[in-house]
Amino acid sequence: MPIRQLSETMINRIAAGEVVERPASVVKELVENALDAGATRIEIVTAGGGLGLVRVIDDGTGIGSGELTMAVARHCTSKLSNDIHDIRSLGFRGEALPSIGSVARLTIRSRIDGAEAGAEITVVAGRVTETRPAAANRGTMVEVRDLFFATPARLKFMKSERAEAAAITDVVRRTAIAFPAVRFTLAGSDRTPLELPAVEPTPEGRLARIAQVMGAEFPANSLAVDAGREGVHLAGHVSIPSFTRANALQQYAYVNGRPIRDRLIAGALRGAYADVLARDRHPASVLFFSLDPELVDVNVHPAKADVRFRDPGLVRGLMVGTIREALASSGVRAATTDASAMVSAFRPGAFSYGRNGPANGHRGFDAAFRAFTTGGFDPGRSPHRPLGAFGEPGQTAFDAGPLASADQRAAQDLPDETLLDADLGAARAQVHRNYIVAQTRDSLIIVDQHAAHERLVYEALKEALHARPVAAQMLLIPEVVDLPADDADRLVAHAATLQRFGLAIERFGPGAVAVRETPAMLGETNVQQLVRDLADEIADNDTTDTLKMRLDRIASTMACHGSIRSGRILKADEMNALLRQMESTPGSATCNHGRPTYIELKLADIERLFGRR
Ligand code: ADP
Ligand code: MG
Repeated sequence: MPIRQLSETMINRIAAGEVVERPASVVKELVENALDAGATRIEIVTAGGGLGLVRVIDDGTGIGSGELTMAVARHCTSKLSNDIHDIRSLGFRGEALPSIGSVARLTIRSRIDGAEAGAEITVVAGRVTETRPAAANRGTMVEVRDLFFATPARLKFMKSERAEAAAITDVVRRTAIAFPAVRFTLAGSDRTPLELPAVEPTPEGRLARIAQVMGAEFPANSLAVDAGREGVHLAGHVSIPSFTRANALQQYAYVNGRPIRDRLIAGALRGAYADVLARDRHPASVLFFSLDPELVDVNVHPAKADVRFRDPGLVRGLMVGTIREALASSGVRAATTDASAMVSAFRPGAFSYGRNGPANGHRGFDAAFRAFTTGGFDPGRSPHRPLGAFGEPGQTAFDAGPLASADQRAAQDLPDETLLDADLGAARAQVHRNYIVAQTRDSLIIVDQHAAHERLVYEALKEALHARPVAAQMLLIPEVVDLPADDADRLVAHAATLQRFGLAIERFGPGAVAVRETPAMLGETNVQQLVRDLADEIADNDTTDTLKMRLDRIASTMACHGSIRSGRILKADEMNALLRQMESTPGSATCNHGRPTYIELKLADIERLFGRR
């Protein structure tokens, strides 16, 4: 076949293949255009999951009647100056309208300030009509009907109407978070309407918009983050570990106001929560990054949702550091979701650790604590015994009887005055073989001993793990892993770090590494998989977090298996030692799986419950 120049429509359809993946992409492009035009109200209507109709009406600057033909022509934009590295608008490629026009029926009606009348233009499967006068308010109405009717192959790939409608909702929510001062409405026969009233562009307003999108319970269950490093600033909100989701949909990230999806950010979020969340749970988060446009490339993909940071390690480090710090310094609280009035009176534990740490004169308890952690307990019982399984057969309410030693009774007599001022107070009793009841000057505390101990063992193991090199085990025959040459280079460059974690690798020809030792804690492990995962991780982020995370996970599993089970009878000293240890251990307010380790009921609330106040 001879070489020929493709027709304009053909070129636009090829571009549409990337820019307009599905109806939600149309909504995204049109809403971005409205925002770039300075709109304060954006009204979106859809039908048939957006395949039948997408209509976006805005009150922005509008398009002059003389410019409508340009607006739907390829590579025509009013946004990009001469510098592709200095992009401050959401659009810049001049591709969206011509792409949409090449695969659907597109109508644009618009009027600019001061113009007597508006004008309208239509594009059907790439054919552009003459501009004609039309009655219009100031602003722009863009209507897209029969999306992909001109490209039936693409139409076949669409999911159900419901799924497409939901994807549109997600786009609107995601975008709306970054523009609190803009009012968004989304309606149509294919959905329940969504209305996001405008709020002040202040921190409070921003949080109010976030609550509109993420649910009213999010603010109370999240922590604010705000930090900067080397020209990159991060602000936003992240959920507390006990407020989790089954998927990562409620994770929103913005770079200079642009909604983005980025593997680096998703990975860093996982890393930040690795210690406090079960593996199949996901935090909810809203993160705003601001940095010099020069330091980030948004021209990675036509959909403009991917970005490339000049220094990914910096962004990752800033994120993990900031979020971990927020989680630690808040003394992790338990979620308030689904709390009935009664239960919500039980304050989820939230002391700030350290205040009453060992330095505060409770050193003596450390010995007692160690004694009971090493003391015998029944390893045969499942550590995963459900919490709150009250009334086991053969167990009386207070575990009295033969087990009621003098020590135990002592704990039920008068509290030790010197302990009442500690965050978790003085232990008074153990009930149902798992719950320690303690008392402070103004509250009642209930500790889940299994969950608490598991956390403490985990923290101790991790500390040991990262304080000194991890034990390695020599392989009888070194294992050779074939890799692309640059992956091998990167791995070898990190050999010293990997060695600290017990993984000994060395170069083995141009496209391979030889593994001589693996971390003993991992036991028999799939070396090939581990090395490849590490190579991916280093390529993505230039770190060796995979190995660290795997080891932390093993520490977590070991902690779970090695912890005092519920069911173990504790002496008063042992209970108090556990409380003191919790007070001095960061993150001990939740177990490794993010469940709270204790709850607190204020005396004032108890009085309220009994109608005394
Ligand atoms: P881009 O947004 O990358 O510039 P588009 O194809 O999305 O490319 O839009 C082309 C041009 O049409 C924009 O640069 C802008 O000048 C104009 N335009 C599109 N939508 C609107 C709108 N809602 N209000 C005002 N101008 C618009
Ligand atoms: Mg655009």
